[in-house]
Amino acid sequence: MTRENIEPIQMQGPVCPIPHRHTDTIVIGHGSGGQMTHDLVQNIFKSRIGNAVLAEGNDAARLTLKGQTEQIAVSTDSHVVSPLFFPGGDIGRLAVCGTVNDVAMLGATPVFLTAGFILEEGFPMDSLIMIIDSMAEACQEANVQIVAGDTKVVEKGKADGVFINTAGFGLIPQGRTIGGQFAQPGDAVLISGSLGDHGIAVLQARGDLGFESDIQSDITPLNHMIGELLEKIPEVHVLRDPTRGGLATTLKEIACQSQVSIRLQEESIPIKPDVRIACEMLGFDPLYLANEGKVIVILPAEKAEAALETLRTSPYGTMATRIGAVFSEDPEQVLLQTPFGTTRILDMLSGEILPRIC
Ligand code: MG
Repeated sequence: MTRENIEPIQMQGPVCPIPHRHTDTIVIGHGSGGQMTHDLVQNIFKSRIGNAVLAEGNDAARLTLKGQTEQIAVSTDSHVVSPLFFPGGDIGRLAVCGTVNDVAMLGATPVFLTAGFILEEGFPMDSLIMIIDSMAEACQEANVQIVAGDTKVVEKGKADGVFINTAGFGLIPQGRTIGGQFAQPGDAVLISGSLGDHGIAVLQARGDLGFESDIQSDITPLNHMIGELLEKIPEVHVLRDPTRGGLATTLKEIACQSQVSIRLQEESIPIKPDVRIACEMLGFDPLYLANEGKVIVILPAEKAEAALETLRTSPYGTMATRIGAVFSEDPEQVLLQTPFGTTRILDMLSGEILPRIC
């Protein structure tokens, strides 16, 4: 593949204006996935290495090779979760599923991954084997292969056990256009299941929960569930996984990309009782907690019921629910309508609530 045989992509519509918040050094909030990450990406990265492909601002890049009818989806993600093992998963499963899901969010079929490892001197070999076995299992489940890799070792104290970077490559069927810029007024907003499970599971593994809970991380490869959804309902406009920054930040990004507003009904948003209790005790808003096995689906309202039925046939979509709708008024706003009749404006996550969650 050369740059010359990649078709140029037209710049997309406006995105939310990003205020420049100057700090002299990197702070932990730059990794939140929220407002500070957006500031960093826009003001430091995109202003220097930006291009029309990056400007699309989706989970994966959409590339067209000249003379080919299929497009390619490409994504990359680094994983620094702490601790490395937690209820429901580990850094290996996370590294495979996170990248598989980002590729799947363009409606692509993930096919190949790469994996780069940064290992700390003194890290137990048994633990590394457990992580690699977990990656192998997740690859089998997602039906992808790791086809290139890299290993670096740094001195003791210069890393934290293991960091993993993965890149993913997938094929986008001809005619499929799915992305955060395609939400339309009148569309319905669906979520495939309950929110905040991953964030609370990692918190529990850190010993910071303060009570016994059965909450497991939701880390899941979503590509098979999404493939079935798109086969039955190709009219889907937007797919996005609400990972760092949670549902609220992710919907804000979509509202900005599509120049629409999104209104949510608070009582319809699925949250497990243990997650709700943990959030109340610790002062977290579950709408800003990370998820690793959930997808937001935005599609024409008349297709919503059929989409929910299809999602619920998957073991990963049994709690799929319609949570809101898209409007043309108040573009770039995400509004939460509470059961008390009040409305709350949801902005991107500001600062950082749970560092190194993925
Ligand atoms: Mg994503």
